[in-house]
Amino acid sequence: MKKNILLAGLAAGAMTLGLAACAAPAAENGGDGDGGLIGVAMPTRSSERWIADGNAVQAELEAAGYRVDLQYAEDDIPTQVNQIENMITQGAEALIIASIDGTTLTQVLQDAADAGIPVIAYDRLIRDSANVDYYATFDNFLVGQQQAWTLLTGLGLTDLEGNPAADAPSGPFNIELFAGSLDDNNAFFFFNGAMNELQPLIDDGTLVVKSGQTSIEQAATLRWDGEVAQSRMEDLLTANYSDGTKVDAVLSPYDGLSRGIISALTDAGYAVGVDFPIISGQDAEVDSVRAILAGEQFATIFKDTRELAKVAAQMARALLEGGEPEINDVETYDNGVKIVPSYLLGPVPVIAENVQSALVDTGYWTAADLGL
Ligand code: BGC
Repeated sequence: MKKNILLAGLAAGAMTLGLAACAAPAAENGGDGDGGLIGVAMPTRSSERWIADGNAVQAELEAAGYRVDLQYAEDDIPTQVNQIENMITQGAEALIIASIDGTTLTQVLQDAADAGIPVIAYDRLIRDSANVDYYATFDNFLVGQQQAWTLLTGLGLTDLEGNPAADAPSGPFNIELFAGSLDDNNAFFFFNGAMNELQPLIDDGTLVVKSGQTSIEQAATLRWDGEVAQSRMEDLLTANYSDGTKVDAVLSPYDGLSRGIISALTDAGYAVGVDFPIISGQDAEVDSVRAILAGEQFATIFKDTRELAKVAAQMARALLEGGEPEINDVETYDNGVKIVPSYLLGPVPVIAENVQSALVDTGYWTAADLGL
């Protein structure tokens, strides 16, 4: 019964998502680039999504006739600042930046502006600077809502769009909450989006946060580090679930954190098919999609990095080739100094039932990658 409802919800969700998800603007034929240099600064190679992002942005720009200086800063802020300074010195004509700490680039972006170099914030908003020209990202509040809805779907309370299930159990369900890194603006959008959906159910007693840790500061995970999440989950289990009560769901905003949380739960004796909690995620990382197929993780949120790369590359091209970058949002992303004109793509929730259609049929992963 639960499965039928789940599948019906999925089909409905897929239809609406098809309408709501924004596709990247149509690619123009490449080759107009003058061989000029574009700097691309990425945060870290420790997560596979950023490697895919960097490669995709580079490929888009090179196909359009540009040279690309692609750098990864391994989550070290001074390294990223130096890399961007070097790009400016090397004569970059535009910068595409996925920041580590979105508040630390004010001075280097002033240098870019003084040199007349346009800046595109990639995925993560760069804060506290007027010198951010455009922002290419996903609908990050919706990502958070979808993370909550995947948890509620797994608990049998809603479908993947948050519509209440007809035969919803009354609970109460024990849930614990994780958030991302507080220096990443996205962490607030994800957490606020999720809490928008979860708070009413906490208030009416359907969901219980036994630890009482419901603020983003308490739930945060510096640098999105999976080991930090693992040890916090261990602490939460020891402090709140040693009396034999079980945690039923865990809000996790990123697959790398979900893997740490899964390790803590497994070490504490939780078993798939017996009492394993419903766990969310983000990025459709290959190990985590495998974990979804194995029943350890319930869901992830797929954000097609190929589409994001196209959006960012087209913004850079428009700026350098005399066009207007395509945007679809001029309200949401206030960076503390200005509202940055943005192009938002649509995220897609993925559970075991739609791994094939969302990730394999779209060519994001091969069946072999996922052990299918
Ligand atoms: C990105 C997520 C990613 C996280 C950790 C966020 O800014 O939007 O896709 O999971 O960083 O890398």
